[in-house]
Amino acid sequence: MSDIINVLPDNIANQIAAGEVIQRAASVVKELVENSVDAGATHIDVIIKNAGKTLIQINDNGCGMSETDARLCFERHATSKIKSADDLFNLHTKGFRGEALASIAAIAHVELRTRHVSSEIGTSIVLEGSKCKEQTPCTIEQGTSFLVKNLFFNVPARRNFLKSDNVEYSHIHEEFLRIAYVHPKIAFTLYHNDKLEYNLPISTLKQRIINILGNHSKERLIAAEQASNIINISGFIGKPEFAKKTRGNQYMFVNDRFIKHPYFHHAVASAFEGVIPAKHYPTYFIYFDIDPQLIDVNIHPTKTEIKFQDEKIIYSILMATVKHAIGSLNLGIDFENISPIDFSAVPQKGIPQQPTLTVNPDYNPFHSSKQKSTSSGHGHFSSVKPATTDERWKRIYESIQENTPVESTEHNEETQTVIKSIIDEQEDTHVEQLAAFQTLYKYIVARIKSGFIVINKEAALERILYERYNRYLSGNAQNSQKLIFPETLTFSPQNSDIVNDLLKELNNLGFDMEPFGKNTFILNGVPIDLLEDNAQETIEQLLESYKNNLLSLKISKKNNIAHSLARSVGKKKNKYLSEEEIQSLIGELFASESPHISPSGKKICITFKEKEMMQLFG
Ligand code: ADP
Ligand code: MG
Repeated sequence: MSDIINVLPDNIANQIAAGEVIQRAASVVKELVENSVDAGATHIDVIIKNAGKTLIQINDNGCGMSETDARLCFERHATSKIKSADDLFNLHTKGFRGEALASIAAIAHVELRTRHVSSEIGTSIVLEGSKCKEQTPCTIEQGTSFLVKNLFFNVPARRNFLKSDNVEYSHIHEEFLRIAYVHPKIAFTLYHNDKLEYNLPISTLKQRIINILGNHSKERLIAAEQASNIINISGFIGKPEFAKKTRGNQYMFVNDRFIKHPYFHHAVASAFEGVIPAKHYPTYFIYFDIDPQLIDVNIHPTKTEIKFQDEKIIYSILMATVKHAIGSLNLGIDFENISPIDFSAVPQKGIPQQPTLTVNPDYNPFHSSKQKSTSSGHGHFSSVKPATTDERWKRIYESIQENTPVESTEHNEETQTVIKSIIDEQEDTHVEQLAAFQTLYKYIVARIKSGFIVINKEAALERILYERYNRYLSGNAQNSQKLIFPETLTFSPQNSDIVNDLLKELNNLGFDMEPFGKNTFILNGVPIDLLEDNAQETIEQLLESYKNNLLSLKISKKNNIAHSLARSVGKKKNKYLSEEEIQSLIGELFASESPHISPSGKKICITFKEKEMMQLFG
């Protein structure tokens, strides 16, 4: 019987490894920025084009690499960070596997420029699919610059799995923040499609968090701190009244590394129980400082799941720390044992006394992560044929580029084509109305010259209303319908502060209202198009979304109000439309500034071209 076992060539082995380490553009950003941190950089620039599908560039002023290291760093298991197995249990760097660069080089076009501290001249290397195409000396400031282009160019299956630019960019954004939140002593910038998204100078930890969240967050954070002999906890939690309905800013870090830890998350959430409304999520930034010997980082290739030796004890300390911080606000909540806490000598095998604590003993924090790790990785590569697929990925890549919606203040080319096509259609058929209908409650389907478009009604309404409200807020105040019987509106103290702050804007939108005693307002008129709606409810919803946006989006007050009202009214008005309403919706949508993306980032319409359909039918 003949032998059948082959040893995989390096480039294929690297592609397989890339399946584990590099899932999407954001993984590249994470690995490269972490390398820059490990290289001792104090300034890191992250430059992204098309959500990383076209370009990911990371520049740092770290220690740089010698000519030999610049070549070696792309080899598998090439690392400067561990030398013996013992080092694995005493890690102080982010990387240690020596896999990232080999993996990235296997699935993208990579250019490296680097100059070591001790060298006068730098090295420039160009690689394509693990192969070195060019190596030349170059002049460059001390440090390293990586350019990663055409991600997954040789793995079409993988490239196909990439989501829209919005989704992919939000992953990059998240990875960037996870690193920026732990390194306030490193200055960061993030550019996307030439727009500066973040410019974070070197600062204190609290100031870094404020620089990311916005100035309003200054008064919303409380420090949480606790030293003990097994773990030191520090960080900030959001004041309970700013808890949100959406899971947002919940971050945990161990020794400067972002971690996901559902069990510890449970500890924080439990500490907030009773002080925030049901279905609300607290904000927290918790930093653990622990002896590396007491954790196992090696549990997961992307290293966000970490195993702790003393999980139950840490759970208790964490919960007490957060309760203590909340208690310090003097909300009138009487937690037992909140102060003072002395964890200086926690018995290694015992659990410190914790008041009224309920923990589910069957809770398995690693359950979901296990499922995740088996479903990713090798599977996607099994059907990939090397090299011959070039033409196919090129086509896919081009079509992704074509269909990528671009948020812009001017009509992009695709929009122009759709508008022109709608106009042509009307002229061609000599019908006054455009052939269009509603389906599945949510969509409008309209015929255009080259095929048809499907419009998501709610997202379209949100876009139209957002722009309309912005016009009202910019001085073209909306007509208000006087109420025969003025209404009184009462809000919570926090909300009425905001209403007072937004009074002028609310007036411009058509809510004719004025203060009327403590937390109460008198409503004399309402916007004409909201006549039938419950004004109190509409304003409450506006405030809810406005507050959430304050925490999660960096937008102006005016845009925030327009966005918040558009979202809640868009949801309400998303009813069955008459034919006339459909026509005016389409007209108004394509007259808007960005007919493809709603202000919340949802796709509004998809074009189906006749040619594509013919292809689908073979
Ligand atoms: P790891 O980070 O696990 O060691 P990588 O593949 O990410 O593996 O990097 C390989 C090696 O390349 C690193 O150990 C480091 O010596 C070098 N290196 C990578 N990026 C940089 C950088 N930005 N500056 C200096 N050296 C770097
Ligand atoms: Mg690394």
